[in-house]
Amino acid sequence: MNDLEFRQQVLDPISASFCGAKWYNATIWLGSGMTTSCHHPPAHFVPVEEVEANPRALHNSAQKKQDRAQMQQGLRPAGCEYCWKIEDMGRDAISDRVYKSKIYPIEALHEASRLPSHEDTNLRTLEISFDRTCQLACSYCNPAFSSTWVKDIRNNGPYLNLVSDGRNHFTHDHAGSQKYRFGEVNPYVEAFFRWWETDLHKTLTELRITGGEPLMSGYTWQLIDWFKQNRGKSKTRLAINSNLAMDSSRLEELLSATEGIELDIYTSNESIGPHAEYIRDGLDWEQWCENMMLLMKSKRLRGLHNMATINALCLESLPEFLTMLLEWKSKYGQDFPNFTLNILRFPSFQSPLVLPDDIRTKHKQELDRWLANYSNHSMLQEHERNHVQRLIDYLDVVKTPHSDAFDMPRLHNDFKKFYQQYDQRRSKDFGRTFPGLKEWYDGL
Ligand code: SF4
Repeated sequence: MNDLEFRQQVLDPISASFCGAKWYNATIWLGSGMTTSCHHPPAHFVPVEEVEANPRALHNSAQKKQDRAQMQQGLRPAGCEYCWKIEDMGRDAISDRVYKSKIYPIEALHEASRLPSHEDTNLRTLEISFDRTCQLACSYCNPAFSSTWVKDIRNNGPYLNLVSDGRNHFTHDHAGSQKYRFGEVNPYVEAFFRWWETDLHKTLTELRITGGEPLMSGYTWQLIDWFKQNRGKSKTRLAINSNLAMDSSRLEELLSATEGIELDIYTSNESIGPHAEYIRDGLDWEQWCENMMLLMKSKRLRGLHNMATINALCLESLPEFLTMLLEWKSKYGQDFPNFTLNILRFPSFQSPLVLPDDIRTKHKQELDRWLANYSNHSMLQEHERNHVQRLIDYLDVVKTPHSDAFDMPRLHNDFKKFYQQYDQRRSKDFGRTFPGLKEWYDGL
């Protein structure tokens, strides 16, 4: 059944707005008590009293129950606007509602459609963040997701003189993102472990742990210990988002503790050597490569996934980075690693679109050449080829002109002001690291 047939034959007969993710999927931030059904609707807060009385409220919040009732009646919850916009483009437009429903058995979708909306449902796929503890402070991240970023802001104060839409990322410590320290009683984490013990370990098909850096969170290890002590009790597949900026012994510990469990590791990089260490402050490039090697050689993973974040600074060494991934794939297999290229949109002053046309065109041509060379490489997967082509189109000044050109002076102001302060706070040197951008940068 193709995507359109799935919508017409499975979803539409239930209702015109039904989406399985509202019942079976969640992203939950336990540090702040926020939850959402997928990454499109804005996250909402679940009051402590609700989860203390019923740990399933982490997912079955009053808000979600209201949304489910609307979907059962064919009404459109406002938070899912992303999907409605796509569907309103035309009768055959396929929104994420289809992709995010398709992963569940059809019978489970029918069950959800019949479930009285005040009743709780058990999750099947979950992404969870225990806290924002992280040893890196990447340039496009911010204190909401990294404790090292918090230290930068607390020790040095807010980044000054930023004027574009991304400025608030860098002006305060985002205290609301982490209401509880490790060791302090966090009622959301307690609720999660209670729910895990009673239901979740039986119903979840996939649990993805994100952060911060999850392997630095004591709670992640508490959960891994549970797997170790209860071998075979849960069939849940585990996925971990990790920056791999750690001693290899920690990864060896992870592999041994999760023996017998299906495990995926998602990591992130998009440039080579000094470029990577500049963008991902705190990263040791050699260590990252060694850890990738360790994971590929271990033969313990279901997949090793590299999610590249395409920003203005990575483009110079991106082709070389992609070639390195292909070499690894040739040795260890198509999914060791596989990759996605995710174009950074926010903070917009770090987007590739801030680069002047001649530099953008140069990078586009280099990627064109890369794709021409490797398009038929047996290890390059279709989605990877599509992602490279999508980036080429994005960098094409004809296809993607600077739509926010009127804002460009503000973006350029922030690019310069931000990296000047970043250099000073992090003991870095933009001009020496990116000689190809130096002349343009100095002139900003
Ligand atoms: S309808 Fe769309 S936005 Fe809403 S939960 Fe489903 S996939 Fe996400």
